[in-house]
Amino acid sequence: MAVLVTGGAGYIGSHTSIELLEEGYDVVIVDNLCNSDKIVLERIKELSGKTPKFYEIDITDKEKMEVVFKENEIDSIIHFAALKAVGESVSMPMEYYSNNIGSTLVLFELMKKYNVKNFVFSSSATVYGDPETLPIVEDSSLSVTNPYGRTKLIVEDMLRDICFADKSLNVAILRYFNPIGAHKSGRIGEDPNGIPNNIMPYITKVAVGQLPYLNVFGDDYDTADGTGIRDYIHVVDLANGHVKALEKLSENPGLVTYNLGTGKGYSVLQLVNAFSKASGKEIQYKITERRPGDIAACYADPTKAEKELGWKAKYGIDEMCEDSWRWQSQNPNGYKK
Ligand code: NAD
Ligand code: UDP
Repeated sequence: MAVLVTGGAGYIGSHTSIELLEEGYDVVIVDNLCNSDKIVLERIKELSGKTPKFYEIDITDKEKMEVVFKENEIDSIIHFAALKAVGESVSMPMEYYSNNIGSTLVLFELMKKYNVKNFVFSSSATVYGDPETLPIVEDSSLSVTNPYGRTKLIVEDMLRDICFADKSLNVAILRYFNPIGAHKSGRIGEDPNGIPNNIMPYITKVAVGQLPYLNVFGDDYDTADGTGIRDYIHVVDLANGHVKALEKLSENPGLVTYNLGTGKGYSVLQLVNAFSKASGKEIQYKITERRPGDIAACYADPTKAEKELGWKAKYGIDEMCEDSWRWQSQNPNGYKK
């Protein structure tokens, strides 16, 4: 029996594939490489000593996806594949709706046909909008402010409806906080196209001299130093959360939802300082305007995942920064030669 990992060549999917292979799962990766590189598959093999099966397919292509279900005995699906750039989603909403929602519909139709019962979905803390209380618990109110976030909330709603109608399904909705860091080897990591939107790849590109300075988006938030606070989580911890979620699904729990965060918030300036300490590199920055749509603070209450999954983040901010730096300094151009 195999786990189908959609988007398995991407940042979180590649780290999760390694953890799954190391736990003894058979892994089948489907990725159209629209935001990743084939080299990742070689690195997964190098690090895990195992070769996952790979299909270069767009998941919205149902006919091609059906071949994957025919050729493999799929037991569970972890669905990472999605477009994820918030700003781009505002200018190209249709692409986001058709890719992120369309792909999930195809998977659900094929799950029904091939009797696959277990599904893990990559959701995001973005579904909490601007939280009324902190830390954020799973039953907080949900709201979104951009098309990317809306695709996550729509898929979550779809999953709740589908699980209500079919009690034999087991679905884990995992709401990630802010993944950073990289595999300890420095062989795989985050490799965004173009100028990064997220803070850690931006900082690491400043550190290797590819960008001149970090723009700090606002220092007038109602936080201790005025900059935005987020719950940064090591991508390997996040990857392990998926292994625990699969174990949970084997108990037939129906639909379950978990925050995957550390529970600790760090401001932009605290992150910059932690990175400088870990890398020995001074990070130049300039305070600029707030980025539209950003919120002051966001951090998880991860208690539910700890109680029900037996999962807790192990790595602290220093290791997250050290590992992000190892990846970027050893691969200044990411996966590009
Ligand atoms: P990523 O872009 O590195 O990985 C996504 C992968 O999916 C890429 O390899 C891409 O090529 C592939 N893909 C996209 N659309 C596809 C399609 N139609 N068919 C086949 N492959 C397709 O992103 P990531 O950071 O690893 O994120 C994984 C998931 O986690 C996404 O669903 C994302 O929305 C979610 N998420 C990410 C973050 C974050 O900060 N990285 C935070 C919260 C949630
Ligand atoms: N941020 C910043 N400069 C950047 C990118 C991000 O100051 O170039 C800040 C952003 O305002 C937020 C935090 O860093 O407070 C995390 O932003 P990111 O885009 O990484 O994740 P988000 O929480 O927005 O999904």
